[in-house]
Amino acid sequence: MKIVWFSIPAHGHTNPTLNLVKELTGAGHEVTYFSFEQFREKIEKAGAEFIPCDSYDFEMEDKGNGERVGKDMAFATELLVKSTLALDDMVAEKVAQIKPDLIVSDSIAYWGKLTAMKYDIPYVSSTTTFAFNQYSSKYMKQEVGGLFKMFFSMPKINKMIKKLQKKGYPIKGILDIVQNDNETNTIVYTSKEFQPCADTFSDKYCFIGPSIRSLESRIEKTAEKTIYISMGTVMKNKEIYRNCIEAYRDTDYQVIISLGENEKEYIDLPENIKVYTSVDQMAVLSIADVFLTHCGMNSVSEALYYEVPLILFPQTPEQGAVAIRAEELGAGIKLLTTKKEDILAATERILTDNQYKLAAKKISSGFKQCGGAKAAREFLERL
Ligand code: UDP
Repeated sequence: MKIVWFSIPAHGHTNPTLNLVKELTGAGHEVTYFSFEQFREKIEKAGAEFIPCDSYDFEMEDKGNGERVGKDMAFATELLVKSTLALDDMVAEKVAQIKPDLIVSDSIAYWGKLTAMKYDIPYVSSTTTFAFNQYSSKYMKQEVGGLFKMFFSMPKINKMIKKLQKKGYPIKGILDIVQNDNETNTIVYTSKEFQPCADTFSDKYCFIGPSIRSLESRIEKTAEKTIYISMGTVMKNKEIYRNCIEAYRDTDYQVIISLGENEKEYIDLPENIKVYTSVDQMAVLSIADVFLTHCGMNSVSEALYYEVPLILFPQTPEQGAVAIRAEELGAGIKLLTTKKEDILAATERILTDNQYKLAAKKISSGFKQCGGAKAAREFLERL
């Protein structure tokens, strides 16, 4: 089978797909993966042919835009449609060359879905967040109905739609692009137990469980309790890091902070706190007792897989949905403010009340029962 894969320039949307790509290429399928230089190495390592999209007009590459995309869906849509148009000629040429049997595309790499529509190729959505429909989207603070209304009234978006139609994309409106229905074959990297409203999705949704990388290193546990703090690879929240340093300064906890950027500014750190640009998250989670997280889907899934309860500090509507779900299943506590006292209180509550650990364990065991990359490969082969 010849599979063409599309993703956006984000670790959180690329990492979970790699086990599946490896599984597919290992079984003799050809995978051509359209992505960005930053991810070339790991994509090629998974056995796929890599095609760079960097030289096209991708404003998503800009860090500031990356952050805004998560918060502002109208802005995201405009950017993503623009990207589709920028890629149009190159993709046309490659599709003619490869003649794919199947297109798998990240749920927000709209150019993948649009390419499938334009050339009438079977399409599968790869959803690295929760699957969203009218029921599960209630978990997002930003109400989806309201958003769609906004889309319709946006002259800019309508202009974009016209441009796409002119280029041969058979779409009627923005909903054709941003919304999937129960008939769309979809791979979701979580368990049915963790997915909100799982029973409202058809059997076209394949819940394969999170994709967990193996440990690349060992990290020494230097205290009885280890706290891990990360706001992921996109968000920047200096205030919370500084407040955590002040909160944990005079404690016995071992504290590991991943900043997601250069750590030069952090001087005068106490012995028990270590700050890194980036860490081997699997290795850290394997020794952590609490994870203070921005609630990126991957970070939360990885932590729960390792049975680590969470302090939840979401920054976007999507992360908000992950936080609500983790909290309602009892595996975490929402952080209401970044005040030192609140950080310490949440930490102590998680460490003293065993219910949080037990809830994390239960979710972990659900993850481990999922079919993983093999189930996803078989799902794609059946199509
Ligand atoms: N990550 C990592 N080391 C770090 C910070 C993050 O390996 O120091 C990985 C993490 O394991 C996860 C991904 O980066 O797989 C972040 O994805 P997530 O969905 O949690 O958040 P995003 O960065 O997309 O906001």
